[in-house]
Amino acid sequence: MYSSNAFANHEQVSIFYDEATQTKAIIAIHDTTLGPSLGGCRMFPYGSEQDALDDVLRLAEGMSYKAAMANLPQGGGKSVIIGNPHQDKSTEMMLAMGKFVESCGGRYIVAEDSGISVSDVKTMASVTKHAGGYSAHHRYDGAEHDGNPAPATAYGVFVGIKAAVKYKLGTGLEGLTIAIQGAGQVGRRLAQHCINAGARILIADVYAPSLDELAKNPNVTVCDVNDIHAQTCDVFAPCALGGAINRDTIKDIRTRIIAGAANNQLAEPAIGDMLTKKGILYAPDFVINAGGIIDIHHQTLQSSASAIRAHLEQIGDTLQEIFSESAESGIATSDIAVNMAKYKISSGKR
Ligand code: NAD
Repeated sequence: MYSSNAFANHEQVSIFYDEATQTKAIIAIHDTTLGPSLGGCRMFPYGSEQDALDDVLRLAEGMSYKAAMANLPQGGGKSVIIGNPHQDKSTEMMLAMGKFVESCGGRYIVAEDSGISVSDVKTMASVTKHAGGYSAHHRYDGAEHDGNPAPATAYGVFVGIKAAVKYKLGTGLEGLTIAIQGAGQVGRRLAQHCINAGARILIADVYAPSLDELAKNPNVTVCDVNDIHAQTCDVFAPCALGGAINRDTIKDIRTRIIAGAANNQLAEPAIGDMLTKKGILYAPDFVINAGGIIDIHHQTLQSSASAIRAHLEQIGDTLQEIFSESAESGIATSDIAVNMAKYKISSGKR
């Protein structure tokens, strides 16, 4: 484990096996300087145990930076269950996972991630006090809230896109073209926010039914999944999988801004510098997509809608700070954001 490329001095990594339910899970706690670690549980049929370990280590580290940059009194952690969520999941497995979370004594707070739903977290919460993102009193916009953080994530990304557009183009979103890769929980809500702000949407998804509703809107054009990243646009918003910006795709990208929800958008750190050199403004993913953990944090406090919204709006201010520092120093926005997060953690600042 210590030799894993993803090991970044994590405080604690726990490996769990429950024979009765065949639950194989890992919890990685990266850093708790700023508070208990918070991060979703991902269920995925990893090709190997090493793949699962690398993924959870990398994701937990990212959560530390995300929480720090979102000004949350939280640290970074993550968990994974090795298995296919469509075939292997059971209520008993979720209860076993909940007990595993409880055994960390509050140093790790679990929430949903890919393969784990709000109702799964609810099941875990029946056996652990340390779960979030399954019940809420208020949503940022005053609408009913079932605990799903995706609406807050989408709004946070929308706030971030507005900040990036104002910084780079000096305008609002009216009349701009925004290309969105992925019309899932976040992508389709983001599209709606941008349409409401007067933008034109280009969108693609590998799962065609996700696009049915949006395709009825005259301001939406459905594109091929293989070249959504290559569309001429003002903003490209990766909202599907990680690694959307890599050495292959960067050659085709014709946008002025990249700002989206996906985690780990840059396939490797060096891509950040390549984007700067191309004059493309990149909104670091773990800063712009922090709406979900901001929402989960406020769910535990039972905050008012206006308090949650005000916190989500801070995403724009933080990005503005990163953009300015990047322009002054010539250092890529992605590197500036990591440095800022590390500084906040090391100095124990909130
Ligand atoms: P989701 O699974 O609901 O949606 C992802 C969508 O992307 C799916 O509709 C899927 O069919 C589509 N997709 C997959 N591969 C694609 C491809 N190659 N091209 C186009 N579409 C493709 O997930 P989500 O909750 O909307 O999250 C989107 C991204 O944002 C993920 O990377 C997630 O980790 C990240 N994120 C989500 C949240 C949240 O609150 N949901 C918070 C932070 C980060």
